[in-house]
Amino acid sequence: MGIIDIASSKSVWRGMDYYKQKKVLSCEENDDGTYEGDVAGSDNKKYHVHLDMIHPRKSKCNCPLANGKQIICKHIVAMSFCVDASEADRFKNEKTIYASEEEERRAKRYDSYMKMAKYMSKEELREAYVEAMIELEEVHRKEKYGNKG
Ligand SMILES: [Zn+2]
Repeated sequence: MGIIDIASSKSVWRGMDYYKQKKVLSCEENDDGTYEGDVAGSDNKKYHVHLDMIHPRKSKCNCPLANGKQIICKHIVAMSFCVDASEADRFKNEKTIYASEEEERRAKRYDSYMKMAKYMSKEELREAYVEAMIELEEVHRKEKYGNKG
């Protein structure tokens, strides 16, 4: 399990941006194989990162989000991409593969619903449409407020 596997996808995407924008100011290897360096923050600050590629959860950053917590923030992710650029490629590949698979699944679903629709009467179509819209609305509402009860 690498850094990008345990970080939230938001941290990985932002870390990727930071890496591309060359916000990693320094990165040096310690004797024990961990890394030490600074990453520029969003507000002219810079944060100190201790990066442990072998034990990702031992990585640290002193930004407000990650300080004192076992959180893999965008600064840690950005530095890990500096140390191992192949990780950045791996992440991009996984996302691309997922996106094209998702597209394929969508196309298949489209075909099968289209086939069903061909055999439905106008009344049945109207009913199915209205039901689908109501259901969609409920799904959106649950997504918005679901966790708060
Ligand atoms: Zn941080």
